[in-house]
Amino acid sequence: MNYDVIIAGASFAGLACAKVLAQRGCSVRVLERRADPGTGLHTTGILVHEAAELLELPAELYKPISQVRLYGPSLRHIELASSGYSFLATDTPALMRHLIQDAVESGAHFTLGTAFTHGKETGGRVIVNRGLASCRLLVGADGARSRVAATFALGQNRRFLLGVEVEYTGLTVDNPEAFHCFLDQRYAPGYIGWVIPGPKVMQVGLAAHHTQKPDMAAFTRHIAPLLHSQRPRIVGRRGGLIPVGGLAGPFCNDKVILVGDAAGTVSPLTAGGIHTALHYGNRLGELAAAYLHKNGPHPGDVLKHEYPRFQHKLLFRELFNRTPNWCFDAAIASPFAQPTAKAVFFLKKRLPPR
Ligand SMILES: Cc1cc2nc3c(=O)[nH]c(=O)nc-3n(C[C@H](O)[C@H](O)[C@H](O)COP(=O)(O)OP(=O)(O)OC[C@H]3O[C@@H](n4cnc5c(N)ncnc54)[C@H](O)[C@@H]3O)c2cc1C
Repeated sequence: MNYDVIIAGASFAGLACAKVLAQRGCSVRVLERRADPGTGLHTTGILVHEAAELLELPAELYKPISQVRLYGPSLRHIELASSGYSFLATDTPALMRHLIQDAVESGAHFTLGTAFTHGKETGGRVIVNRGLASCRLLVGADGARSRVAATFALGQNRRFLLGVEVEYTGLTVDNPEAFHCFLDQRYAPGYIGWVIPGPKVMQVGLAAHHTQKPDMAAFTRHIAPLLHSQRPRIVGRRGGLIPVGGLAGPFCNDKVILVGDAAGTVSPLTAGGIHTALHYGNRLGELAAAYLHKNGPHPGDVLKHEYPRFQHKLLFRELFNRTPNWCFDAAIASPFAQPTAKAVFFLKKRLPPR
């Protein structure tokens, strides 16, 4: 079958792109290696306020969280709150199924349980998986270790955090309305630990430089005084790589373009990538539709000016990596902790103007 666009990967970036392309009259097929994109998740699924604004989500899919508790290594903490800004903890499996349904209703076609394995440019088209289908433009929305990027010798992510997360029922936490963040280089070197009271499960997670496997058992023992259990049960696990080295370049050629984690658009500071995946997935959909049907510019020529460069955030990441634990405890105790942490958590996440 011939399509205008084939997208590898049915997650935030691929689904946003597929929906916009289909709405604009393009023929689009999404290949996804998982048979059910609501299973085998790697993400915690917290949406920043601006990401939530890009989606119209039914209320049962999320729980707004407007408080953050930030802990130092000694478990001393500060409380942060914002009346005008909230995060959304999501029922992520249901959210993914909702986004797929949305794209299907817009006219996108899906082949689930089928990975992109092979691609070749020939006669002005890209032939995918040795003749399964062909397209005028191939989109790699296939995550941190993109097979599309490797196949077409595009830029690949080189620096990662490794995140692991356990989902519990029967567990509560002090202040169950807050997002609990733990600064501690012993358990989360290079990042944080977290506890999120989600809409259905309690999510306890940890991320660290990808060369060091996070020790969830030790972290859970460390934060045990804050957890209260009534017969806790582990009901799921999530985990995966978070690319934090900034934009992977080159991110496109004439017939192939990367978006989302495949392109490295995750914030190196916060390691959040859902907002940018949705935003640039939408944007690539608009640009690709105009390029294919209205003689618009090549999407890569536009996105090279729009994709984030993260220079400052990469510097902050280096600084964070070198911060010893005593500094975190001293910072939490200082009068500057509140305004600085509030700026990181609650400041509006602006993306480069279009
Ligand atoms: C543990 C963890 C927690 C995180 N928590 C948050 C958070 O709370 N908030 C936030 O903003 N960000 C978070 N992130 C980052 C965020 O999940 C990603 O930035 C976001 O999911 C990127 O979306 P994407 O669509 O680009 O890629 P992905 O979500 O990685 O999706 C890639 C898709 O491609 C599919 N795929 C892979 N290879 C192939 C192939 N060869 N063929 C076909 N399909 C393929 C995969 O199955 C997957 O569906 C977290 C990341 C991790 C690892």
